[in-house]
Amino acid sequence: MLRRFRLEEPESVAEVAELLGRFGDNAKVYAGGTELLLAMKEGLVQYERLINIKKLGLNQVSAENGTLKIGALCTHHELENSALLKQRMPALVKLEQNVANVRVRQAGTIGGNLCFAEPHADPGTLLMALGAKMVADKGASKREILAEHFFVDAYETSLAADEVLTEIRVPTAGANRKCAYLKFGYLERPSVGVAIALSLNGVVSDVRIAVGCAGPAPIRVAEAEALLNGKSKDEASRNLAQAGAIAGKASQAISDLHGAQDYKEHIVGVLLKRAFQAAVS
Ligand SMILES: Cc1cc2nc3c(=O)[nH]c(=O)nc-3n(C[C@H](O)[C@H](O)[C@H](O)COP(=O)(O)OP(=O)(O)OC[C@H]3O[C@@H](n4cnc5c(N)ncnc54)[C@H](O)[C@@H]3O)c2cc1C
Repeated sequence: MLRRFRLEEPESVAEVAELLGRFGDNAKVYAGGTELLLAMKEGLVQYERLINIKKLGLNQVSAENGTLKIGALCTHHELENSALLKQRMPALVKLEQNVANVRVRQAGTIGGNLCFAEPHADPGTLLMALGAKMVADKGASKREILAEHFFVDAYETSLAADEVLTEIRVPTAGANRKCAYLKFGYLERPSVGVAIALSLNGVVSDVRIAVGCAGPAPIRVAEAEALLNGKSKDEASRNLAQAGAIAGKASQAISDLHGAQDYKEHIVGVLLKRAFQAAVS
């Protein structure tokens, strides 16, 4: 059962930061509420004050100087239907179409997904491969956090207690830049997710590989990237089995209801191979 709480409805990021600073651990922001209210109903967390941030707007997608700017309050539904994303970042559109179910996608936001840092989530993995940066804002000041520095552990990010995630900035890619995200799972949320981004210009270069869901937090795997960087498409393909094995180990896979550790590690390798093929084809 949901216990009583006070509701705040600020209209600026500065007000949100002030409320978070004033009430500390007794207050929490919420957007769609699809994670937080569920956790409160289950009695897993309790807050005396909830800060509704939906009046901040922040639900636009725009392109500026080679960067796609995604407002943190965009719902999954808005992202899967964004004309700009369909044109500039179809891999993210496809990912969003396959997040949760239609009810969660209507209310749940990308910011809520990233900030909750539930391990079995999709967007963080692809955003990491795409070199995205998170904008952490406290009204008076803001900073950018690279996706690989944003996720710290299960349910833990590097956002400070009085910071709000306001925007996700994703570098837009030239014609030679390719990417793909694949996931596997048989429960409600994914068991393993793998993303790859690379440039293809005679050789494979600037490879970024990220693995998510298997372990506590999405992780970038530089050692696997090195096996593909600077190689021809065929040479890189031949190295995929080794790169997949390295990525599987690096994923810090945990045995749980989604599968055993070695099973998840194996799936990481399978998905990496398929994601590479999808990206270059
Ligand atoms: C049944 C179910 C199935 C799901 N399946 C999938 C799936 O397949 N793939 C997947 O990726 N996800 C899945 N999800 C997760 C879903 O994507 C999230 O529930 C949703 O995106 C959370 O967004 P929200 O706005 O509702 O977050 P909220 O519940 O409002 O907030 C979640 C947390 O983030 C914090 N927060 C929210 N916004 C901000 C912000 N802008 N700045 C700082 N902190 C913030 C809140 O304080 C809270 O701690 C599933 C969820 C459910 C319930």
